[in-house]
Amino acid sequence: MGDAVRKKVVLLGSTGSIGCSTLEVAKQIPERVELVGLAANASVEKLAEQARETGVKHVAIADASKEAELRALLPEGVILHVGNEGLIELATLAGADVVLVAIVGTAGLEPALAAIEAGKDLAVASKEILVMAGEIVTAAAEKRGVKILPVDSEHNAIFQCLDGHRGGEKEVSRLILTASGGPFRTWPEEELKAVTLEQALKHPTWEMGRKITIDSATLFNKGLEMIEARWLFGIGMERIDVVVHPQSIIHSMVEFVDGSVLAQLSRTDMCFPIQYALTWPDRVPGGLKPLDFGQLSKLDFEEPRDGVFPALGLARRAGLEGGTLPAVFNAANEIAVDAFIDRKIGFTEIWGLVGETMEAHETLPADKLENLIEADAWARERALSVCV
Ligand code: NDP
Repeated sequence: MGDAVRKKVVLLGSTGSIGCSTLEVAKQIPERVELVGLAANASVEKLAEQARETGVKHVAIADASKEAELRALLPEGVILHVGNEGLIELATLAGADVVLVAIVGTAGLEPALAAIEAGKDLAVASKEILVMAGEIVTAAAEKRGVKILPVDSEHNAIFQCLDGHRGGEKEVSRLILTASGGPFRTWPEEELKAVTLEQALKHPTWEMGRKITIDSATLFNKGLEMIEARWLFGIGMERIDVVVHPQSIIHSMVEFVDGSVLAQLSRTDMCFPIQYALTWPDRVPGGLKPLDFGQLSKLDFEEPRDGVFPALGLARRAGLEGGTLPAVFNAANEIAVDAFIDRKIGFTEIWGLVGETMEAHETLPADKLENLIEADAWARERALSVCV
């Protein structure tokens, strides 16, 4: 293990939105964060540029067909790891303390499990891996004695509210996830059918990758987060609620059994939760500006429109039933989002497709990785067959 204060960090998904914010954080607090490995899927130019900028000695590219192109761009002396094996080599890199998984979808699951097995702490942005295999990931981390640090802003907020709280789960009455409500929060139901890709990609408060931006517009993002919270904090689904908070200033809250509520607030910048996950248990000054309360006119709250956006109901059902159903919920949503991005299905067909796939699934226990991988593949195939 490295220096207890200066963390050596491997970043999977470095070329994405979270990846780039993590580079920003590392630049602001070099005395606390040293990037030692970067990985992406296919963005060779950006990855090579990041390798030059950070001086990392290890880089991985998942798409093996890009190996030669990337090799030609990398500075001399950088070791290139290739394919899924390459991601695993990076996730288990000797000397690394923390692996931050910011790969979109479930492709980060195997490297995440390998990192845990190798004794690395895991900082998780990729909510999909916890939705698909939360039971296995959290059990593996507990067995190996490594920490799972939430990067998702809502879960990082809850992690902050619970930090230092010694009473444990029995003193928590509810976790309250906040949701911006997305760009269609106030739209009449009958207009949602005609939503275009361009409209869905305009998030009112956050700038993020394409998949999570569409998930925010359908509220599937919040559904995925409910299941993610269930595993990160060991709280039953029935005690996880969502409130719409359009300004996205409160990132989530914890209600305790005595009726008190703790909330975490900051500007909408993912560098906040990334920095806290990487410096935990400490807080350090970085390059982040605090809130200016004089500029905040108000904080609003609303009930989610469950009748119009069925994602939260579907997530609750998947989380309560458990087993392989959350993996199916997630996989069908990934296919549906891709199909919407490719303009093969309409906006409101996303939740129809997920609901039908869940309906057709026969749930199995989630304690075996094979069951989850099979359910994930089954759901993808079934959902795909409907959208072609
Ligand atoms: P982006 O689409 O911006 O970036 C995805 C990253 O994953 C890219 O670096 C991409 O590489 C890489 N990638 C994709 N597929 C693979 C693969 N098979 N193997 C290796 N790398 C791969 O996504 P975001 O940064 O927005 O989101 C990443 C994760 O973080 C998601 O799970 C999301 O839900 C979560 N998250 C994101 C937030 C945000 O603000 N963006 C907030 C909270 C959570 P390449 O560039 O080569 O394609």
